[in-house]
Formats: sequence, C-alpha cells, structure tokens
Amino acid sequence: MSEKSKSAIIVGAGAGGVALAARLAKAGLRVTVVEKNDHTGGRCSLIHHEGHRFDQGPSLFLLPRLFHQTFEDLGTTLPAAGVDLLRCQTNYNVYFHDGERFQHSSDLAAMRTEMERWEGAGGFERWVAWLREGHRHYEISVREVLGKNFVHFWDMVRPSFVATILDMHPFESMWSRAGRYFYTERLRRVFTFATMYMGMSPFDAPATYSLLQYTEFAEGIWYPKGGFHKVVDALVRIGQSFGVEYRLSTPVARVLTSPDGKKATGVLLESGEELSADIVVLNADLVYSYGNLLPRSPAIENRTRSLQKKEASCSSISFYWSMKRKIPELSTHNIFLAEEYRESFDAIFDRHTIPDEPSFYVNVPSRVDPTAAPDGCDSVIVLVPVGHLSRRSKGATPTADDHDADAEGLLPTDEQHWDQIVDRARTAVISAIEARASCTGLREAIGHEIVNTPPTWETRFNLDRGAILGLSHNFLNVLWFRPKTRAPELGATYFVGASTHPGTGVPIVMAGTRITAEQILGDLGMAVPWSRRDEKVVQGGKVVSEVMDGRSDTWLRFGTEEFIVLVLLGTFVLFTAYLLSYVSGPGLVLS
Ligand SMILES: Cc1cc2nc3c(=O)[nH]c(=O)nc-3n(C[C@H](O)[C@H](O)[C@H](O)COP(=O)(O)OP(=O)(O)OC[C@H]3O[C@@H](n4cnc5c(N)ncnc54)[C@H](O)[C@@H]3O)c2cc1C
Repeated sequence: MSEKSKSAIIVGAGAGGVALAARLAKAGLRVTVVEKNDHTGGRCSLIHHEGHRFDQGPSLFLLPRLFHQTFEDLGTTLPAAGVDLLRCQTNYNVYFHDGERFQHSSDLAAMRTEMERWEGAGGFERWVAWLREGHRHYEISVREVLGKNFVHFWDMVRPSFVATILDMHPFESMWSRAGRYFYTERLRRVFTFATMYMGMSPFDAPATYSLLQYTEFAEGIWYPKGGFHKVVDALVRIGQSFGVEYRLSTPVARVLTSPDGKKATGVLLESGEELSADIVVLNADLVYSYGNLLPRSPAIENRTRSLQKKEASCSSISFYWSMKRKIPELSTHNIFLAEEYRESFDAIFDRHTIPDEPSFYVNVPSRVDPTAAPDGCDSVIVLVPVGHLSRRSKGATPTADDHDADAEGLLPTDEQHWDQIVDRARTAVISAIEARASCTGLREAIGHEIVNTPPTWETRFNLDRGAILGLSHNFLNVLWFRPKTRAPELGATYFVGASTHPGTGVPIVMAGTRITAEQILGDLGMAVPWSRRDEKVVQGGKVVSEVMDGRSDTWLRFGTEEFIVLVLLGTFVLFTAYLLSYVSGPGLVLS
C-alpha cells in the first residue's frame, strides 16, 4: 500500500481537529473531517447577531509561540495565512469588590508604578522574581511537556524531566506559591485568578501555571482581527490545500471496528452512512467519545467509568450582549473578582454550583477590533464560571451518587430550569460592573442577549458535564496520568484536543496536534514533514524565543514541596530496586 493511499477520519472540526487534519494531509494522508455542527471551530467559533460578532469561547490569544510553531510546521506563517494579530495595549483591568482597580499591562514602567502602589518598596523586585520563576515554568513546560508524549510511565522518569520537575512546582498550589512573592492579599488575587483559563481554582491548580503570568507580560495578549475563529479558518484553508475534505452537519453515531473488534475501521454516521479509513481520530470531547462513540468492550466500559469519575473543569454561563451604544468604561479584557475570593472558587469546584457573589470575566472585542460591532456600538461577552453539571455524563448509567448529587441541589441538567439562575447571574453581573467600573445604564444599553448555559455547552459540542475546558489539570490529570493520545483499548484509534495530552486552551491543543500527528505517522511508518527544531522559534531569520538554560535556585528554597518530591523519588527508587530484586531472584538486594 503506498503512503498516499492511507486514510484518516477525524471526528470533530474543533481547533484540534482542523490543525491535525492539515498536519496529516501535509504528511500524505487522505483526510476527511466529519463535524456535527454546521461550522468549524467547535468551542473556538463565532456567534453573530445583526452586525455584532462574538467569540463563543476563546478570546485571549496567549502563548503565541505555539501558534507560530503550528503554522511554521505547515510551511507558512500566521500573517501569510491571513491571520492579522492585534495586540491589546492594556492586558486587562482587575476590579476588586470596592471599586479599586489593578491595571495589568506589558509596559514595565507602568507595572513598576502599579506594583509599588500596592506592595510598597520591593514590590516591583518581588514581581520580577515571580516572573522569572514563571519564565522557567514556561520554558520547561514547552520543552518537557507540551512537546513530548507520555505514552509509558517511564516517560515521566526521563532524566531530563525528573531533573527539572521541581523547577515546575507541580505539587504546590498557585495560591500558596503567590504568597511567597506578594505580601498583599489583593495582589495574590491578581496573580492567581488566571488558573481559571484552565478551568481550575487557584487553590488547587499547580504553581506551574504561573507560566501564564509570564507569557501575558512578556509576550502579551493578542486578538486575531475578525475573531479567534480566523485561526481555525486559516487552518481549514491550509488543510484543504493539502486535500482535506470537510463534511459539516454530519454527526457521527459510533466508531466501526474490524470483525475481531480489535481495531477501528471507520465511522457510522447518524444518517446511516458508513465511512472507512485506516485510522480514526476523535477530536470530539474525549470523555463523551469513550461513553458514546467507542464500541462497548469491557476494557472501554472500565475506562469510561474511570474517566467519568475524573475531576473536570468548570462550566460557564456566557452572555453575548449586542450593545446599543459604546461602553467606554470597559477595556478589551476585564476581570471582576469577588470579595469572598476563596468562596467564589469553592462553590464552583467543591460544591459544583454557582457562587452567591461570582468572580467573572468581561470581554469587549470591539474595543481592540472595531469590526466586532456596528459603528457606535460595542459587543460585550460576559463569562460567569459555574460548576460543571452533576454526574449525569452523556451515556453514563446513573448511580446512587447521582441521586445523592441531585438531592444536594446541584445545578440542573436541562435548559428549562436555567431561567432563574441566569436572571440572578445577570443581575449580579450588571450591578457589579455598574458599581465598580462607574458605568451607568448598562442594563438599558443591552439591545439583544444570547446566553450559553452548561446544558448548552453539553448539547452543542457534546462536552461531558458541560465542562468548558474539559478534564481538569490537577497533577493526577496531566502527563502520563492524562488520557493517552492513542486509545490503549482499540487499535488505529487516536485522540486530539482539550481532554487528552497535553491539555486544554487553544495553544496547548495546537501543541497537542503535533504530538498526535507524530504518533500516527510513526505508527503508519510515514515520515514527519516538519523539523524538530522547536527548542528555538525562528521568525524572519531571527531567533525570537529559545529554551532558557539558566541554573535553578529551587534547591536554595528547600521547603515542603521539595521534601515531598524527594520522598516520592526515594519511594520510586526503592520500589524499582525491590522489583528488580524480585525479578532477579531473592538474595540480590533484600538479602
Ligand atoms: C467559554 C470558553 C472560553 C474559553 N476561553 C479561552 C481563551 O480565552 N483562550 C484559549 O486559548 N482557550 C479558551 N477556551 C478553551 C478552548 O476553546 C478549548 O480548549 C479548545 O477550543 C478546544 O478545542 P478542541 O479541538 O479540543 O475541542 P472542541 O472545540 O470541543 O471541538 C470538538 C468538535 O467535535 C464536534 N463533535 C462532538 N461530537 C461529535 C460527533 N458525534 N460527531 C461529529 N462531531 C462531533 C463538536 O461539535 C466540536 O466542533 C475557552 C473555552 C470556552 C468554552
């Protein structure tokens, strides 16, 4: 069989599906993408209303290096592919409950003023040290996590990985880590809320994610002119130029298998049509895919149950408001933090409900890109994070736990029960914005409203439990612990997207498309058509970013976390020694 005759079906045209399709087609596969909705992009898509344009999901274009890498691998660049990136001059404004405001920018002098205003003398230096640590987290993560696969457990004990794991502070929470650098509670809040980009509480998220703080300051926050979906559009066009076929409004009912049930051979569409291929890639949410698309073998049943028990990220009530006028008090990105900061996360992540006083995010795309709204008007998106839906995963058999959960009054799972909850959220949001950003008449200025609730996310994109960012990113859900990019239970079946390795967020998903593509090409014995020189990103002949090689000062700050890691490593070494002694017979080690 010649390379050209090998074929792939990708289920889902989300950011992960379209980028992977382009990569596989460039490598010589015949690729067909089947998507249930009538548009590409999945969560990374647009909503339109009478000249107003809204990003349904992503609005913060972060970690630009990972986007550049994807386009370079495909033999082009973002600008050449028609993606015009606009930089947000103020990264964001953070509003506290009493109307005080922290302005975050990439202007060093402005940040110095802001840091000293809040933290006094030395505050600036401590923030620089925080950034330096965030930079290390970033570079190590890009090199050791986002660029590598974790197929076997021993991939986690690679010497290069083990040597740097402490430098990523994966066993300490963002909140605790921030406490070492910032003396005021306010700035601890400012520099930790970003874990919500991964759908996690700063009290649970590993301190590794301070890498977000580094990239925000050093590389800035960007916005693709015309909406985030422009990135997806460009990838679709690139893929089509390599021969990718897109079939929209084509929901897949299940994956087809060989007569012995050992490998995937194609998909059955809901229309009854069968499509066959050498491999099948599931870009549809991984937990949903296990529960609904894969065949029901005992191994897959087991895996499905275990996935449905894994911690998931939050969901959201998202408002898309067509404003009758401009709201000049709001900048492109605005964060409103609850006075009861910790409680606002505990309600979401521990009790899976809605905080009485929510923290929320307001995005005004028309502030940075006037094409997002008619002249003289604004388009406003409000994202109120809420708990994910209770255990009623699609395809899951209800258990005793489900009934307990319902009895505890968790969030309702059907749309019609959401009206009152949405009303309460809208009222809380409007009064907080009016009071803290000093803008009056906000409610009256809303010309039209569209709302997404957790059930919307669940039904529109088949997201398990309506969790908008997929599986959580706590330590037991990342690296080798995260679901694999190749299904262990079924041959010729792969995954790409937010809930597989390396994880969620469009840039991380982009990095994942390279990992899944290389695994597929390796399995098929095909050549990888891009080079592996990703430790350095070169643009226009200039190195714009490279993995830093500074010495770590982790050992100078030996603390609880370092102790835990030493104990874990020690246990692992002893355990391995014990196993070896067992295999090679008694008397070797334990005599
Ligand atoms: C409200 C919100 C805000 C966000 N903000 C940001 C942000 O600012 N920055 C950022 O980087 N990321 C952000 N994200 C996260 C980001 O959107 C996701 O991580 C990313 O888009 C996931 O892409 P994906 O390809 O994994 O999955 P998806 O986008 O979910 O794509 C999967 C596709 O599969 C399709 N599908 C499902 N079932 C079937 C089936 N049976 N048959 C055929 N097709 C099927 C779905 O319709 C969908 O199109 C946000 C997400 C949300 C929801």
